Amino acid sequence: MLPARINPPQRRLMGPGPSDVEPSVLEVMALPTLGHLDPQFLKIMDEIRYMLRALFSTENALTFPMSGTGSAGMETCFANLIEPGDRVLIGINGVFGGRMVDVAQRCGAEVVTVEVPWGETFTPDDFLQKARGQRFDLMALVHAETSTGTLQDLSGMRAVADHLGALLLVDAVTSLGGHTVRVDDWGIDAIYSGTQKCLSCPPGLAPISFSSRASEKLEQRSTPVQSWYLDLSMIGKYWGAERAYHHTAPINMLYGLHEASRLALEEGLEARIARHAQNAARFREGLQALGLNLPVAENIRLNPLTVIEIPSGIDDVSVRKHLLEQAGIEIGGGLGAFKGKVWRVGLMGAASTKSNVDACLSGLKNALNAQQ
Ligand SMILES: *Cc1c(COP(=O)(O)O)cnc(C)c1O
Repeated sequence: MLPARINPPQRRLMGPGPSDVEPSVLEVMALPTLGHLDPQFLKIMDEIRYMLRALFSTENALTFPMSGTGSAGMETCFANLIEPGDRVLIGINGVFGGRMVDVAQRCGAEVVTVEVPWGETFTPDDFLQKARGQRFDLMALVHAETSTGTLQDLSGMRAVADHLGALLLVDAVTSLGGHTVRVDDWGIDAIYSGTQKCLSCPPGLAPISFSSRASEKLEQRSTPVQSWYLDLSMIGKYWGAERAYHHTAPINMLYGLHEASRLALEEGLEARIARHAQNAARFREGLQALGLNLPVAENIRLNPLTVIEIPSGIDDVSVRKHLLEQAGIEIGGGLGAFKGKVWRVGLMGAASTKSNVDACLSGLKNALNAQQ
């Protein structure tokens, strides 16, 4: 039998992503699909590039969205910047640093890791000590660790990369649009993000930006980029002046990113970041009033994502099920070492609202009471 046409319910998406999408983003995604070389579409592409540069605070020429989710952005950066045998220094303080290691090794890198416990962040010295005066081609770390709820201070990391002779690569999947990200001021060489976190667009695109130094490394490769699909030397020609066909752009997804970027810039980056901070503060206050413990130290807490310790005697899955079924709210469970130990609540992009904060606090209170 043919399935009925789908009819998804309206949720409050308060997990680690995807986040709630603004209605106008969904509306533009339903507009007529254009050809990927239609002059009207090329204009939309140029406007997206212009707006992504503003979001990343960069002048980098090589700035555009890759087809695929945040992980495709991660893979794009490593695949293009690593040649087999390159030495790469990677910080691990959660799931996504670990994923970077896996991706870098598949590209043939010789990886050295710098590790601090989950829920903590790095100092520049952590990297320097591990490097012990050796040279590296690339150094990579995560700005907003969504698995642990920490915000990494990136000031001082450019100086470390210079000391190692390395390019600096940063994961900004959960920070872009929710925390300050200043690519040029912070000397970042390669950065990637995703559309479905603080940009509040459905999952499916990964904005990236490469500095001129990173672009040079790409041009000077002696081996072809190991991934055909993610090869920036080819896809860059479609997003650049040549408009050479590489793969068919996901047209309607790009409409969505255009509108989501427009909304973010219309709100103003500073105002948007302040909104994320205010709602996160209100949420934390409410959680503490419920007697819940926030394991991450106050000075390194993420605003778009709060990690809550699950009280002993409380069942993780039942609480999340209660929230979803009784309040239509999705929150996340723990990943990896934090599985079953924490909840992860997102207040990202369009979902970072006072009404979501209050609905989640009252939903949590009811879900906890239901277990007493
Ligand atoms: C979500 C996330 C990713 C992966 O993005 P996907 O869209 O799930 O592929 C990478 N890094 C961080 C920090 C993330 O939060």
